[in-house]
Amino acid sequence: MGAMRNSKSRGCLVATLLLAIPFEVTTKNMIGPPTHRSWIMSRIRSTDTAPEMVIRKLVHSMSYRYRLHAKDLPGKPDLVFRGRRKVIFVNGCFWHSHDDERCRLSKLPKSRIDYWQPKLARTKERDRKNEELLMARGWDILVLWECQIKRGSGLAKLLSEFLGS
Ligand SMILES: [Zn+2]
Repeated sequence: MGAMRNSKSRGCLVATLLLAIPFEVTTKNMIGPPTHRSWIMSRIRSTDTAPEMVIRKLVHSMSYRYRLHAKDLPGKPDLVFRGRRKVIFVNGCFWHSHDDERCRLSKLPKSRIDYWQPKLARTKERDRKNEELLMARGWDILVLWECQIKRGSGLAKLLSEFLGS
């Protein structure tokens, strides 16, 4: 996963899907039982999402160089700037329970609250632990939210302030 990918992979659904699916799934379980398919769908939701592509493109256009989804770091940050020791997470508002009154994307579904509430609470707790681990290792963290990226304003300024010159 070392090489930088850019907008060339956008617009090609198949390429995006294949990039999002771990090797063993693409080779062995592509046509599998529903459990595999839903697992694949959950992978697709969490990587190479549209908001993440927006940020990758923007950061790239600002001439910063980064790596993707560093597996050796807690929480596999979406963008990693090793030289600067900084990471960016691009969080989906629903999955990561965005706690902001302006956010319209983080509302709990009306049905199956007893299913979603503990699931989302676990994700939030995991996020918090990963952030603690990263900070303890000296990494700076920027969390960008899906709704913030959709609004769009001020993103470049925020990124350059975080990443520095
Ligand atoms: Zn949000």
